[in-house]
Amino acid sequence: MINCASQMIIFEWGYALDSSAPQDVVYRGMEDYTKSLLEFEDRFATEKACLEYIRKLRWPEGFYCPRCENNKGWLTKRNLYHCEQCGLQTSLLADTVFQDTKKPLHLWFRAIWHVTSQKYGANALGLQRVLGLGSYWTAWAWLHKLRHAMVRPGRDRLSGVVEVDETYIGGKKPGKRGRGAAGKALVLIMAQEDKNRIGRIRLRQVPDASEDSLGFAIQEAVESGSTVRTDGWSSYGGLPRLGYRHKVVRGTADVGENLLPLAHRVAGLLKRWLLGTYHGAVRDYHLYYYLDEYTFRFNRRTSRSRGKLFYRLVQQATAIDPTPIKKIRHRT
Ligand SMILES: [Zn+2]
Repeated sequence: MINCASQMIIFEWGYALDSSAPQDVVYRGMEDYTKSLLEFEDRFATEKACLEYIRKLRWPEGFYCPRCENNKGWLTKRNLYHCEQCGLQTSLLADTVFQDTKKPLHLWFRAIWHVTSQKYGANALGLQRVLGLGSYWTAWAWLHKLRHAMVRPGRDRLSGVVEVDETYIGGKKPGKRGRGAAGKALVLIMAQEDKNRIGRIRLRQVPDASEDSLGFAIQEAVESGSTVRTDGWSSYGGLPRLGYRHKVVRGTADVGENLLPLAHRVAGLLKRWLLGTYHGAVRDYHLYYYLDEYTFRFNRRTSRSRGKLFYRLVQQATAIDPTPIKKIRHRT
């Protein structure tokens, strides 16, 4: 259990020329992204250009009917794709983050550019200002929709050697393991080892530190057969039954020692990020989204271009279900 905020390491979202980090995502087709703000402004000045970009990302091999999987159709006067086989008329934006939006797409694109080009992360007030939105609420909702899109559907799980530990987020006093703590959220940190450095990470908010909760979160994020390194907390004892090789770093679970350096470091960075970017003002029931944003940024920290992050996020925004705002508010 990582319980103290020691060993804070100053970390920049450096987009260094380092392509050795494991790639999270493999996509079909050519990657097509703009390299600078100027190029971005030029390219996405019109709705038509934005639609064309989305079309290429969503249907890289041409139109594809979501109902009958046929690939022949035509565009109607109302800008709907008409399936030649089953007659379904579908919008390019149906089932994407942009579905039913009343705002122009180029504004959305600007929002995505802003979010991905911020070194640490974007907040709603900043986004509202940059886009000139009348309502803070709109900016807030957009940010949450985009955070939702940062989790790629069906993304691959961590593998190899993975360090796992829990940490508490929020609250002033340290929490006691296994008992929970008022005002605190328990987060499971999973960090894949990559030549003694941190490779990809996954973060999951868990209800408690029980065997069931931890086992379930690990199964969601780590491939079976991987080696999972933890401390001696008894709830990890069931990992071999779930198909993992379990390596216990030590027998006791004292607080504050750095025997799981990778997980410990990620916990420190995450807390620093939440504090620096959101001033710690993250509500417990929204933490899920911030963890996704952090994971997205962290796993692409060596990306060579911010335009590439933009490309990834637009791509993921076209590949997920739309998120009605009610779902965001009520998600726990
Ligand atoms: Zn069809």
